[in-house]
Amino acid sequence: MHEFFMAESVLRIVEESARVHRLHRVTGIAIEVGELAGVDREALRLALRVVLTGSIAQEARVNLVAVPGSGRCTGCGRRVALARRYDACPACGHPGVQVTRGSELKVLEMEAS
Ligand SMILES: [Zn+2]
Repeated sequence: MHEFFMAESVLRIVEESARVHRLHRVTGIAIEVGELAGVDREALRLALRVVLTGSIAQEARVNLVAVPGSGRCTGCGRRVALARRYDACPACGHPGVQVTRGSELKVLEMEAS
């Protein structure tokens, strides 16, 4: 259920940003979701629908942008694509791949009126 905590932190970011920019209604939110972040996108979408109800972003279109995982192998030094966080290096089989991309969850942009 940690998608609910994520949805709540998204709402906090959106509300804070709306306050700073004096926005009254948020019509769209784009959220970057790393494929290694351990986020169930459908659960997050559902949680956002619940959490955003009654907020300034109640009517917002939510766009979840997937970020593929990648990392650098500590064995062979190559940059490799990662489907799962603890996968071995697909090039050399070394088990230690340092994640460089795909573990993030962040609000990319907002549209407002
Ligand atoms: Zn390697």
